[in-house]
Amino acid sequence: MNLFLYIIIFIMGTLFGSFYTLAVYRIPRKIDIIHTHSFCPNCNHKLGFFELIPVWSYIFLGGKCKECKQKIRPRYFILEFLSGIAFILIAFCLKINAYSLNIETLIRFAFIILYLVAIFLIAGIDREYRKIEKSVLYYSFAVSCSYIIYLCIMGQTSIHRYVMYLITLIILLIIESRTQIKKAEASYLFEILMLIVVMLINTNELVTISSVVIVFLAIGIAKIVYYLKNALNKSKKEYKNMIEIYKFGYLFSLTNIILFIGNLYFMYHK
Ligand SMILES: [Zn+2]
Repeated sequence: MNLFLYIIIFIMGTLFGSFYTLAVYRIPRKIDIIHTHSFCPNCNHKLGFFELIPVWSYIFLGGKCKECKQKIRPRYFILEFLSGIAFILIAFCLKINAYSLNIETLIRFAFIILYLVAIFLIAGIDREYRKIEKSVLYYSFAVSCSYIIYLCIMGQTSIHRYVMYLITLIILLIIESRTQIKKAEASYLFEILMLIVVMLINTNELVTISSVVIVFLAIGIAKIVYYLKNALNKSKKEYKNMIEIYKFGYLFSLTNIILFIGNLYFMYHK
């Protein structure tokens, strides 16, 4: 029975994974994510029902488009599969059990999934374009608000901190939209700040601060290695300010998901 439940959760995860890849492709290109039928980006062939099944369709089609035989990037398959695994891990951390289904845990699971959608989309789009889409930020704002309302209803004691973060997020959104920041770099900084506040609301302080610290440490180490390598090679290559090319949205999101799942495990398995 439990195995059956976890298989369903895995399938759900792969379906979400398939949605992430679609949304990461379409949102920056301004293609409708709901009403436009899935198609092959090479030959525009509309995908049939069996070609839409996540993970299996990739194996079934041998990683190629049915019509034009164009290779499908394996990252679609990997992402769908990893998303399924993430869902299973979260369910396991929350101790979701077919024999004792607890409505509160299920609601928590649903909120985590809604948050994951935001984080995956932010990571995916930032990785490709080094920017965070406004529409995804608005979506994560809506998720954060609903989560806080839910906590209020449940009589959560430390509600003030959530309200504080929410106000910060609103202020950032207002400044960002009112001042029409021209410089791309400054705009990106605002987006990253908003992402951090969203993380604070949906995970917690420990996970968020650790994510940021780990990313900066890793960048620091990478910089030292890069510098040493250059010094050893005595090459006169221009030492570009590497901080400018880092995709912080992608790096923070990825670290955040891993730490968050680990934190959930310790919270529910004390
Ligand atoms: Zn094709």
